[in-house]
Amino acid sequence: MPTTTTVIIGAGQAGLAMSRCLSERSIDHVILERGEVANSWRTGRWDSLRLLTPNWQSRLPGFRYQGDNPDGFMTMPEVIAYLGTYAAAIDAPVETNSLVTSVRTSRDGYRVTTAGCEWHCRTVVLASGACNKPDVPPVAEAVPGNVTQLTPAHYRNPDQLEEGGVLIAGASATGIQLADEIQQSGRPVTLAVGGHVRAPRQYRGMDIMWWLDAAGILDERYDHVDDIVRARSLPSFQLAGSPTRSTIDLNTLRRHGVKLVGRLAGIRDGSAQFSGSLRNQCILADLKLGRLLDNLDEWATRHGLDPETEPPHRFAPTHVEESPPLLANLTAGDIKTVIWATGYQPDYSWLNVPVLDERGQIQHDGGVTSSPGLYLMGTPFLRRRKSTLIDGVGADARDLSAHIADHLHRVARVTHHAASSQRQPADACGLPEY
Ligand SMILES: Cc1cc2nc3c(=O)[nH]c(=O)nc-3n(C[C@H](O)[C@H](O)[C@H](O)COP(=O)(O)OP(=O)(O)OC[C@H]3O[C@@H](n4cnc5c(N)ncnc54)[C@H](O)[C@@H]3O)c2cc1C
Repeated sequence: MPTTTTVIIGAGQAGLAMSRCLSERSIDHVILERGEVANSWRTGRWDSLRLLTPNWQSRLPGFRYQGDNPDGFMTMPEVIAYLGTYAAAIDAPVETNSLVTSVRTSRDGYRVTTAGCEWHCRTVVLASGACNKPDVPPVAEAVPGNVTQLTPAHYRNPDQLEEGGVLIAGASATGIQLADEIQQSGRPVTLAVGGHVRAPRQYRGMDIMWWLDAAGILDERYDHVDDIVRARSLPSFQLAGSPTRSTIDLNTLRRHGVKLVGRLAGIRDGSAQFSGSLRNQCILADLKLGRLLDNLDEWATRHGLDPETEPPHRFAPTHVEESPPLLANLTAGDIKTVIWATGYQPDYSWLNVPVLDERGQIQHDGGVTSSPGLYLMGTPFLRRRKSTLIDGVGADARDLSAHIADHLHRVARVTHHAASSQRQPADACGLPEY
């Protein structure tokens, strides 16, 4: 049975960042990865996707973007190459094609099982990703058989879709990007919009990510927010990365011909039923955007940035038509495809340690679970607002690797103490202590 101090599960950015931080502390470890490095970016993303975070923001421990387009947005092949270069630069001990099928506690740590091997270790870092499976709502079961259903994990490009209408449920980053691309392919899109977070690509001449980063919003800590449960379930910003740096919001989509309807609330007798709350959802998102921009403006003034940036301004409210449709007949043949852009879930079906709650989520305090030596990385707002971003895993990995080092010292002290007390009778007989 191979032995190491720490097993990291997953060679995405979270696992690699943790590897780098453990190496800095000379903590022996291995990364078990079911596919290749950056597997999620290789296998679970659509063809046209670009990062919505600018290149300068792809900062990882000991590594940053060195190219000549810091304000650009990486394509998927570029992200894969970037993470591959990082893995090589930090000499990450990755065992590829090693699917972890079970993690159990053992007498002095954990046993981590893969198809060909059982690893024994003191500590485990779960860096297996927060987006392992699409979160498809139960209403999907009522979609009539004549309509094809897809999730973003299996969508690649519009050519894959039958000609005809497409209903997309969910209007966060994924939903708006797919709506725009599919509408432009000539397939009329209906976008079901629930709660969403509106964000412009640029504000006062700077990228919105620059503002969020500089003003410290992305650094906000999990133990400083009022309602962390709510903060962890917030949808992603309605943002896209493109060479034109253009904003894609609901107004843009409407101008491009996308039909906006309320949240998909149910499907009955072959008809999709949309909530009547579209207008309220849009008003709320506009209000929240206004509040965010107010905060950014105040921050800019406090820091003397007004002379260096364009003047503050506000964006047009989201336009909602007078009476958006409340029903769409899915059996009439107009809508050929439904795409569930309703979020993702992690998959811990292989985790045999009792740290999951009733929803299958890991209970943790900033990535530290109640099972000593078991840690979590890469989930929403794990330790900071930016925890799921490429730019966010570094700070979390630094904190948690310090926790791992402390844990290992404590375990070593206890083990040493136990060994010394067992030798006590011998010492009492006057034998030397080794
Ligand atoms: C569509 C989309 C767009 C995104 N765009 C951006 C963006 O622009 N900028 C940004 O910063 N973030 C973005 N993110 C968020 C985040 O950066 C990604 O989700 C990223 O992949 C998370 O990295 P990770 O290392 O936490 O998880 P992952 O990249 O998912 O890595 C986890 C790894 O664990 C492996 N694994 C899982 N289960 C097992 C197992 N049982 N055994 C062995 N290996 C296993 C997987 O194969 C995978 O390689 C985006 C996310 C999505 C879904």
